[in-house]
Amino acid sequence: MSFESLGLRAELLRAVSEKGYTTPSPIQLQAIPHILEGRDIMGGAQTGTGKTAGFTLPLLQRLMESAKPENSRRAIRALVLTPTRELAAQVEESVILYGKHLPLKSTVIFGGVKINPQIQKLRSGVDILVATPGRLLDHVSQRTVDLSKVEILVLDEADRMLDMGFIRDIRKVLALLPKQKQTLLFSATFSDEIKKLSHDLLNTPALVEVAQRNTTAERITQVVHPIDKNRKRELLSFLIGSNNWKQVLVFSRTKHGSNRLAEQLNTDGITAAAIHGNKSQGARTKALADFKSGKVRVLVATDIAARGLDINQLPHVVNYELPNIAEDYVHRIGRTGRAGNEGEAMSLVCVDELKLLKDIERLLKREIPKVVLEGYEPDPSIKAEPINRGRGNQPQGARKPAGNRSASDQNKQRSSYGARAGNQGRSQNQSSQNRPRRTTQNAA
Ligand code: AMP
Repeated sequence: MSFESLGLRAELLRAVSEKGYTTPSPIQLQAIPHILEGRDIMGGAQTGTGKTAGFTLPLLQRLMESAKPENSRRAIRALVLTPTRELAAQVEESVILYGKHLPLKSTVIFGGVKINPQIQKLRSGVDILVATPGRLLDHVSQRTVDLSKVEILVLDEADRMLDMGFIRDIRKVLALLPKQKQTLLFSATFSDEIKKLSHDLLNTPALVEVAQRNTTAERITQVVHPIDKNRKRELLSFLIGSNNWKQVLVFSRTKHGSNRLAEQLNTDGITAAAIHGNKSQGARTKALADFKSGKVRVLVATDIAARGLDINQLPHVVNYELPNIAEDYVHRIGRTGRAGNEGEAMSLVCVDELKLLKDIERLLKREIPKVVLEGYEPDPSIKAEPINRGRGNQPQGARKPAGNRSASDQNKQRSSYGARAGNQGRSQNQSSQNRPRRTTQNAA
């Protein structure tokens, strides 16, 4: 199936072919015809599936088809809401890219940067506005944006917008839009909250879904390296250095932890930058640009900052710490093996994280191979300590603090660790070619 057969207009086909795409991705194949027909969409797709082009291409076409020549004062006709600044910027880049042969104008607005240049841009008139909800409402309150002519609304990564607490902002925005419009909702997961939102918002939507949330792409090789917490950094530096990895995305649970890890890697002679919500927009953009250009080898990110980052053909993703929420694991490893490329996702897991690992394996409906690396065997005398799970997906009290757990509970946890490490397809002796050899330098 080709892009031509989807019925896209020549200007779009030209932009797509200039970008080098030859075949539509599955989500594009499914979504584009429905959107061109004017239907609402409930799309189950995460970043990496090609969903951005999946909604941008038909959105541009619809705007061209319904363009009214007499409407010379440009009104905002399409609104794309995204959870993060990075995703907003990337979506707008796609709008510019795919729309480059069309006379449509777009802009992007997000917080963390000055509002005045955005106001200027809006004043000059745009057809397509990409925005994060908070900053959009700032503009609404300053009356610098008029949403009353919106024909198409896209909610991109709706699940993450809800996770980030944007539901009230979203509802405020919805109240400002015309009742009659086409709505496209994309979400990697379908929680009850998402279902409720889509029920309120969508009109007999077409359901399109690829790579269901519980099935991770097969082309991603996943492995867990059991390791003591205090030796994770040493192992990470060793893996990066000994394999000569040039581009690695590393996930850390906290903003502070990601800063510290980036600093430590730099001290180890591995260029690294951190990206998280406390960094200024300028620092985030620079870190991403340096990473993309190869100036820094490692980008250490928190889940929210990394969400939606479009970094092509990312070969390695490392979970320095497992996420609190199992579904975030799927998002994280979705950064690798993108658009048909092979990828490797590795998780450095200490004894405290075994419960999180279980949650992830339950979600994936499979075990992730465990490979104990020679010289980095976990110390069996170290007992698990509770992790502050923050906004966890566990019912309260599901995890007893270590102090309240019985010795047998703790032993169970210990033994599952040991057993798994040895029971997997790849044993210690067969472990990957990455296996470090213990050297005096590596001994703690
Ligand atoms: P997205 O899921 O929209 O973030 O897209 C993931 C990546 O796939 C981006 O780098 C796109 O440029 C790329 N991409 C999108 N559509 C195609 C396609 N049909 N063929 C090849 N690559 C694509």
